[in-house]
Amino acid sequence: MGIVIKSEREIQAMREAGGVVATVLEVLKLQVGPGMRTKELDAIAEGELEKLGAKSSFKGYQGFPAALCVSVNDEVVHGIPGERVLAEGDIVSLDFGAIFNGFQGDAALTVGVGEVTSQARELMEATRGALEAGIAAARDEARLGDISAAIQGYAESKGYSVVREYCGHGIGREMHEEPQIPNFGLPGTGPVLKKGMTLALEPMVNIGGWRTRLGGNHWTVLTADGSLSAHFENTIAITDGEAEVLTAL
Ligand code: MG
Repeated sequence: MGIVIKSEREIQAMREAGGVVATVLEVLKLQVGPGMRTKELDAIAEGELEKLGAKSSFKGYQGFPAALCVSVNDEVVHGIPGERVLAEGDIVSLDFGAIFNGFQGDAALTVGVGEVTSQARELMEATRGALEAGIAAARDEARLGDISAAIQGYAESKGYSVVREYCGHGIGREMHEEPQIPNFGLPGTGPVLKKGMTLALEPMVNIGGWRTRLGGNHWTVLTADGSLSAHFENTIAITDGEAEVLTAL
Protein backbone atom coordinates (compact mmCIF):
# COMPACT_ATOMS: atom_id res chain seq x y z
CA MET A 1 0.00 0.00 0.00
CA GLY A 2 2.92 2.36 0.65
CA ILE A 3 2.90 5.55 2.66
CA VAL A 4 -0.44 7.35 2.44
CA ILE A 5 -0.36 11.13 1.88
CA LYS A 6 -3.37 12.81 3.50
CA SER A 7 -5.34 15.73 2.12
CA GLU A 8 -5.94 18.81 4.27
CA ARG A 9 -9.47 17.53 4.82
CA GLU A 10 -8.19 14.20 6.09
CA ILE A 11 -5.66 15.92 8.34
CA GLN A 12 -8.49 17.99 9.80
CA ALA A 13 -10.31 14.74 10.65
CA MET A 14 -7.11 13.44 12.26
CA ARG A 15 -6.83 16.64 14.32
CA GLU A 16 -10.25 15.85 15.71
CA ALA A 17 -9.34 12.22 16.47
CA GLY A 18 -6.09 13.44 18.00
CA GLY A 19 -7.99 15.94 20.11
CA VAL A 20 -10.09 13.11 21.55
CA VAL A 21 -6.93 11.20 22.47
CA ALA A 22 -5.32 14.24 24.08
CA THR A 23 -8.47 15.05 26.05
CA VAL A 24 -8.76 11.52 27.44
CA LEU A 25 -5.06 11.32 28.36
CA GLU A 26 -5.34 14.66 30.16
CA VAL A 27 -8.24 13.33 32.24
CA LEU A 28 -6.32 10.12 33.01
CA LYS A 29 -3.13 11.95 33.96
CA LEU A 30 -5.02 13.86 36.64
CA GLN A 31 -6.56 10.65 38.01
CA VAL A 32 -3.32 8.70 38.47
CA GLY A 33 -2.52 8.33 42.15
CA PRO A 34 -1.49 5.88 44.84
CA GLY A 35 -4.13 3.23 45.62
CA MET A 36 -5.75 3.27 42.20
CA ARG A 37 -6.19 0.01 40.31
CA THR A 38 -5.02 0.07 36.71
CA LYS A 39 -8.42 -1.24 35.55
CA GLU A 40 -10.03 1.88 37.01
CA LEU A 41 -7.98 4.00 34.59
CA ASP A 42 -9.25 1.86 31.72
CA ALA A 43 -12.84 2.34 32.89
CA ILE A 44 -12.33 6.12 32.96
CA ALA A 45 -10.90 6.00 29.43
CA GLU A 46 -13.94 4.03 28.22
CA GLY A 47 -16.30 6.50 29.85
CA GLU A 48 -14.56 9.51 28.30
CA LEU A 49 -14.59 7.86 24.86
CA GLU A 50 -18.31 7.34 25.11
CA LYS A 51 -18.88 10.96 26.16
CA LEU A 52 -16.88 12.16 23.17
CA GLY A 53 -18.63 9.81 20.73
CA ALA A 54 -15.42 8.05 19.76
CA LYS A 55 -14.31 4.42 19.67
CA SER A 56 -11.23 2.70 21.04
CA SER A 57 -8.45 1.85 18.61
CA PHE A 58 -7.01 -0.77 20.93
CA LYS A 59 -9.93 -2.77 22.32
CA GLY A 60 -10.22 -5.95 20.29
CA TYR A 61 -7.14 -5.12 18.21
CA GLN A 62 -5.53 -8.54 17.73
CA GLY A 63 -7.58 -9.52 20.77
CA PHE A 64 -6.30 -6.80 23.15
CA PRO A 65 -8.89 -6.70 25.97
CA ALA A 66 -8.86 -3.01 26.99
CA ALA A 67 -9.13 0.54 25.66
CA LEU A 68 -5.97 1.66 27.44
CA CYS A 69 -2.49 0.18 27.80
CA VAL A 70 -1.15 0.68 31.32
CA SER A 71 2.52 -0.23 31.77
CA VAL A 72 4.08 0.20 35.21
CA ASN A 73 7.80 0.60 36.08
CA ASP A 74 9.75 -2.09 34.16
CA GLU A 75 6.77 -2.70 31.88
CA VAL A 76 7.55 -1.04 28.55
CA VAL A 77 4.31 -1.16 26.55
CA HIS A 78 1.07 -3.13 26.05
CA GLY A 79 0.35 -3.57 29.76
CA ILE A 80 -3.17 -4.91 30.33
CA PRO A 81 -5.15 -2.94 32.93
CA GLY A 82 -6.26 -5.11 35.84
CA GLU A 83 -6.15 -5.52 39.60
CA ARG A 84 -2.69 -4.02 40.08
CA VAL A 85 -2.76 -1.16 42.59
CA LEU A 86 -0.52 1.82 41.83
CA ALA A 87 1.90 2.71 44.61
CA GLU A 88 3.66 5.94 45.54
CA GLY A 89 6.88 6.15 43.52
CA ASP A 90 5.69 4.02 40.57
CA ILE A 91 5.89 5.38 37.07
CA VAL A 92 2.99 4.52 34.80
CA SER A 93 2.86 4.68 31.01
CA LEU A 94 -0.58 5.31 29.51
CA ASP A 95 -0.97 4.55 25.81
CA PHE A 96 -4.30 5.38 24.23
CA GLY A 97 -5.80 5.38 20.75
CA ALA A 98 -9.18 6.56 19.45
CA ILE A 99 -11.13 6.38 16.23
CA PHE A 100 -13.27 9.40 15.41
CA ASN A 101 -15.02 9.99 12.08
CA GLY A 102 -13.05 7.17 10.53
CA PHE A 103 -9.59 8.40 11.53
CA GLN A 104 -7.19 7.36 14.23
CA GLY A 105 -5.20 9.18 16.88
CA ASP A 106 -2.54 7.52 19.05
CA ALA A 107 -0.54 8.98 21.93
CA ALA A 108 1.18 7.97 25.14
CA LEU A 109 2.77 9.53 28.18
CA THR A 110 4.43 8.39 31.37
CA VAL A 111 3.54 9.95 34.72
CA GLY A 112 4.79 9.49 38.25
CA VAL A 113 2.51 8.20 41.00
CA GLY A 114 2.90 10.72 43.82
CA GLU A 115 6.56 11.45 44.56
CA VAL A 116 9.03 9.57 42.37
CA THR A 117 12.83 9.28 42.55
CA SER A 118 14.97 11.77 40.64
CA GLN A 119 16.13 8.78 38.52
CA ALA A 120 12.57 8.10 37.44
CA ARG A 121 11.81 11.77 36.84
CA GLU A 122 14.92 12.22 34.70
CA LEU A 123 14.03 9.12 32.64
CA MET A 124 10.56 10.51 31.94
CA GLU A 125 11.97 13.93 30.99
CA ALA A 126 14.55 12.36 28.68
CA THR A 127 11.92 10.21 26.96
CA ARG A 128 9.72 13.24 26.36
CA GLY A 129 12.83 15.02 25.09
CA ALA A 130 13.57 12.15 22.71
CA LEU A 131 10.04 12.41 21.30
CA GLU A 132 10.47 16.18 20.86
CA ALA A 133 13.81 15.62 19.10
CA GLY A 134 12.10 13.19 16.74
CA ILE A 135 9.30 15.66 16.03
CA ALA A 136 11.84 18.42 15.33
CA ALA A 137 13.52 16.16 12.74
CA ALA A 138 10.20 15.34 11.03
CA ARG A 139 10.23 17.83 8.18
CA ASP A 140 9.24 17.83 4.53
CA GLU A 141 12.14 16.46 2.41
CA ALA A 142 13.97 15.03 5.45
CA ARG A 143 14.44 11.25 5.63
CA LEU A 144 12.75 8.82 7.97
CA GLY A 145 16.14 7.84 9.37
CA ASP A 146 16.61 11.45 10.50
CA ILE A 147 13.71 10.96 12.94
CA SER A 148 15.07 7.63 14.18
CA ALA A 149 18.57 9.01 14.64
CA ALA A 150 17.32 12.12 16.47
CA ILE A 151 15.34 9.99 18.94
CA GLN A 152 18.21 7.57 19.53
CA GLY A 153 20.81 10.32 19.76
CA TYR A 154 18.83 12.26 22.35
CA ALA A 155 18.09 9.24 24.56
CA GLU A 156 21.63 7.88 24.38
CA SER A 157 23.13 11.31 25.09
CA LYS A 158 21.37 11.08 28.47
CA GLY A 159 22.85 7.62 29.12
CA TYR A 160 19.70 5.62 28.36
CA SER A 161 18.88 3.02 25.73
CA VAL A 162 16.00 2.91 23.24
CA VAL A 163 13.85 -0.18 22.80
CA ARG A 164 14.47 -1.73 19.39
CA GLU A 165 11.81 -4.41 19.03
CA TYR A 166 8.88 -1.97 18.99
CA CYS A 167 8.58 1.15 16.93
CA GLY A 168 6.46 4.04 15.72
CA HIS A 169 4.28 3.84 12.63
CA GLY A 170 2.32 5.61 9.97
CA ILE A 171 -1.30 6.25 11.01
CA GLY A 172 -4.50 7.40 9.33
CA ARG A 173 -7.64 5.42 8.66
CA GLU A 174 -5.68 2.50 10.11
CA MET A 175 -3.82 2.59 13.41
CA HIS A 176 -0.77 0.99 11.84
CA GLU A 177 0.11 2.16 8.36
CA GLU A 178 3.43 2.29 6.58
CA PRO A 179 6.14 3.15 7.36
CA GLN A 180 7.46 1.51 10.52
CA ILE A 181 9.51 4.10 12.43
CA PRO A 182 12.33 2.57 14.47
CA ASN A 183 13.58 4.59 17.44
CA PHE A 184 17.16 4.01 16.31
CA GLY A 185 18.87 4.42 12.96
CA LEU A 186 21.06 6.47 10.70
CA PRO A 187 20.37 10.00 9.43
CA GLY A 188 20.02 10.38 5.68
CA THR A 189 18.53 6.91 5.21
CA GLY A 190 15.02 5.60 4.55
CA PRO A 191 12.04 7.12 2.73
CA VAL A 192 11.85 10.86 2.06
CA LEU A 193 9.22 12.57 4.22
CA LYS A 194 6.51 14.50 2.40
CA LYS A 195 3.93 17.06 3.46
CA GLY A 196 0.71 15.22 4.31
CA MET A 197 2.32 12.14 5.85
CA THR A 198 0.89 11.36 9.28
CA LEU A 199 3.08 9.48 11.72
CA ALA A 200 2.95 8.21 15.29
CA LEU A 201 6.38 8.70 16.90
CA GLU A 202 6.83 6.75 20.12
CA PRO A 203 10.18 6.34 21.82
CA MET A 204 10.34 3.72 24.57
CA VAL A 205 13.41 4.44 26.68
CA ASN A 206 15.05 2.25 29.34
CA ILE A 207 17.43 3.12 32.14
CA GLY A 208 19.28 -0.16 31.52
CA GLY A 209 19.72 -2.15 28.32
CA TRP A 210 17.42 -2.01 25.29
CA ARG A 211 16.37 -5.65 25.34
CA THR A 212 12.83 -6.63 26.29
CA ARG A 213 10.94 -9.79 27.18
CA LEU A 214 7.29 -10.72 26.79
CA GLY A 215 5.26 -11.22 29.97
CA GLY A 216 3.25 -14.32 30.83
CA ASN A 217 0.00 -12.78 29.53
CA HIS A 218 1.59 -12.64 26.03
CA TRP A 219 0.89 -8.91 25.79
CA THR A 220 2.86 -6.99 28.38
CA VAL A 221 6.40 -6.14 27.26
CA LEU A 222 8.98 -5.71 30.04
CA THR A 223 12.62 -4.68 30.13
CA ALA A 224 14.80 -7.80 30.08
CA ASP A 225 16.99 -6.47 32.91
CA GLY A 226 14.13 -5.20 35.09
CA SER A 227 15.14 -1.53 34.72
CA LEU A 228 12.57 1.27 34.53
CA SER A 229 11.10 2.21 31.16
CA ALA A 230 9.19 5.28 29.93
CA HIS A 231 7.10 5.87 26.80
CA PHE A 232 5.93 9.06 25.11
CA GLU A 233 4.03 9.20 21.83
CA ASN A 234 2.34 11.77 19.62
CA THR A 235 0.60 11.57 16.27
CA ILE A 236 2.03 14.24 13.94
CA ALA A 237 1.53 15.55 10.41
CA ILE A 238 4.41 16.57 8.14
CA THR A 239 3.86 20.14 6.90
CA ASP A 240 6.04 22.52 4.89
CA GLY A 241 7.40 23.85 8.18
CA GLU A 242 7.57 22.28 11.62
CA ALA A 243 5.55 19.11 12.06
CA GLU A 244 2.09 19.62 13.55
CA VAL A 245 1.24 17.58 16.64
CA LEU A 246 -2.27 16.22 16.06
CA THR A 247 -2.62 14.75 19.55
CA ALA A 248 -2.19 18.12 21.28
CA LEU A 249 -4.91 19.64 23.45
MG1 MG B 1 1.46 3.79 18.49
